[in-house]
Order: sequence, then structure tokens, then C-alpha cells
Amino acid sequence: MDSGVQTSLNPFEIAQRQLDEAAKRLDLDPGLHELLRWPLREFHVRIPVRMDDGSVKVFPGYRVQYNWARGPCKGGIRFHPEETVDTVRALAAWMTWKTAVVDLPLGGGKGGVVCNPKELSTRELERVSRGYIRAIGPYLGPDVDVPAPDVYTNPQVMAWMLDEYETMVGRRAPGVITGKPLPLGGSAGRGDATARGGMYCAREAGKVLGIDLRGAPAAIQGYGNAGQFAHALGEELLGLKVVAVSDSQGGIYNPNGLPSKDVIAHKDRTGTVKGFPGAKTITNAELLELDVVALFPAALENQITGANASRIKARIVAELANGPTTPEADVVLHKNGVHVIPDFLCNAGGVTVSYFEQVQNAYNFYWTVDEVNARLDAKMTTAFHAVHKSATEHKVHNRLGAYLVAVQRVAEAVRLRGWA
Ligand code: GLU
Repeated sequence: MDSGVQTSLNPFEIAQRQLDEAAKRLDLDPGLHELLRWPLREFHVRIPVRMDDGSVKVFPGYRVQYNWARGPCKGGIRFHPEETVDTVRALAAWMTWKTAVVDLPLGGGKGGVVCNPKELSTRELERVSRGYIRAIGPYLGPDVDVPAPDVYTNPQVMAWMLDEYETMVGRRAPGVITGKPLPLGGSAGRGDATARGGMYCAREAGKVLGIDLRGAPAAIQGYGNAGQFAHALGEELLGLKVVAVSDSQGGIYNPNGLPSKDVIAHKDRTGTVKGFPGAKTITNAELLELDVVALFPAALENQITGANASRIKARIVAELANGPTTPEADVVLHKNGVHVIPDFLCNAGGVTVSYFEQVQNAYNFYWTVDEVNARLDAKMTTAFHAVHKSATEHKVHNRLGAYLVAVQRVAEAVRLRGWA
């Protein structure tokens, strides 16, 4: 590592360190600080699932309800073989700061099941999804805790989960989960909301930095929901020239640009972006260090670390993933003048439209995609500038600037409730 100091890559320890720095700057009362360092409550469950071959497999699952001072807990559910409770805790903490930074009347939570969806049949995936809700359902509700999709979960998984929950409680309750398919009360615009919100932030970053993004080279790490839509919307909304993309199997690079339509079709057909005609194969690590103007990490945690931060050449790093950059890397990037749009601001578009989905469910009255996108733009643009102002005024990097905004809001709600 550049600093010569080996520090933890445990995401929850990272989340706590980030909070500690903000608490120090805000001079938070020690009791309040301690309250914000840990989840208010968490559930550890074991989910028995009948596999297609007749055997039973038991999957560990978690739901962390980090903080509900500002409203019901909100956050996705990940299905991942390397899921740990500390990853879920970190993600739940970041959801708390995320809903606060975009000023939604929600708290933060996150869930996870330790499983590899790539090795499960569709029926097995359905049984895991329903099993998770049978275990956690009693502690969910539109005004308690509201899950959504995340890594390796999607609208179909949300549909099974909704159905299981509604069967348990014996009534319709669409607001218990978001990211649903449209016929079950999903919102127009939820599918691409995470990437779209990130594009609105990148657009604003271009403005404050005086960078023209039209035709500017860009790279995207990760090709799931956020990465694919970032590719298409980067072209459509910002006119970026996306020269490199990657997925868990590796990346592709073409300095003349990669058209999103063709790359997405290739991925749909073959299961990976690799082997796309006319592109050079590169690694995920090489992609991060390309000479591009905008870099979009849209995969998993701990991608930009003390080990590679000094080699990042992008002017703007727009974090669509959660936790892609470590605290050591933040210091190096800031010193090198890289404008980081921190994860819990940059990818807040998803939860913002999830909130819109809940509002529409509550009214049982649905908006057009143009209404959703316009409201999303307003939320993201306001939040971007609040963070930019905070970072500039306090002379700190953007992530700390975002923490100062978010933690102050959560702290105020906690104080008003008389918890600390
Ligand atoms: N999983 C997404 C996130 O990390 C969306 C959460 C939600 O919509 O509740 O922000």
C-alpha cells in the first residue's frame, strides 16, 4: 500500500471509520456517536430450502436494521456467496447515510443471503426468496422496514417475496418491498434509477469542474443493473464515449468506443461482456487505471484501495457500487484532484425511486416515467450541490462532505426523539 500501513478491508470497520471522522468534525456527543456506530437491531436466520434433487440445504441470512430515527428502514437484499454479516452491516449503515443525504423520510437497512444464485435453478431461487421472507417477514412492513433489489436480486425475486409476505399477513401490502415488477405495483423508472441518478450527479460534477463530458472517454466496472444502464444512459444523457466495460469474468476495451446496445446484446447472449468483437480483453484492475475522464465503479466493495489509488487517471469517479473506495484511497484521490462522487450520494437514485414507489403504493395512484425522472433529477441535483457545498466549505474530500450532511440530519432526528 502507498501509505505502508495495512488497514482493514472489512467493510463495516471502514464504515465505522468513516463515521468516526465525521463525528469528530461535527463534535458529536459521545453517546450519540456510539449509537450511530452500530445497528439498532439485526436478525440472523437460517433458511432451509428443498433443492431440486430432493435434498435440503440450509442458507444463512441476515437483515440489519441500522437506524430508523428518520423513518422506516430501507435497503436492498443481496444474494452473494461471500456475504458476511459485516458486509450487510456496512451496507445498512451506508443506506442510513444514503436516505439522509437525499433527504428521504427513511432510515437504513440491508439484507443478505449467503448463496450463489448462479448455481441455483429458478425454482430453487424462488424457494430461497420465499424462505427469507418466512424468516424475516414478521419484522418487515411498509412502516417498519422495506427491502428492495441489490446485487444478484431483481424484480422477479421481489415479486416472490411480496407474494410470500402478503400470504403471511393475509392482505395486499405492496409498500412492503420496492423494485417490484410494474404489474405488482412497481414504479416506472425504477429499473434504471440507480444509473440515472449517477448520471445526473456526473452531469453536475462536469458543470462544477468545467469539464465537457460530450465525447469524453469513460469506463464502467461491473455490468449488472447499474453498469448496463450506466452504459446506455452515459451515451444517451451525457454523450460519453464508453471505451471499457467489465463484469466478474473480465473486461473489454476499445478506444473508439463500445456501443451499449451491442455490448448488452452480447452479454445477454453469452453471459459475459468478454469476447465482444473488435475489443481488446483487459482485467478489472486494468480497467480502473485507464486514461479516461469518467470512471464508474459499478461492481463490489474495495476496488480502489491504497494499492492502486495513485494510478487512477479519471477526473471524475462516480461510484455506482456501494463501498468501492477505501479510506486510504479517498485521501490519495483527493490529493490528486480526482473528483469522487461518493457511493451513498451517487447511487442514491435507486432508493429515491424506491421511495417514489412506496408513495405511489400508498396512494394506489401511479406516475408517468417522465414525472418519476423529473422528480429524481430534482432530488439528485439538490443532494449533489449540498454535498459539494459541504466539502468545499469544510475543505474536505467529497465523501466526508457527504457524511457531514447525512450524519447531521440523522443526529438531529435522534436528538429530537430523545434517544441521545
Ligand atoms: N439496493 C439499492 C441501494 O443500495 C436500493 C435500495 C432500495 O431501493 O431500497 O441503494
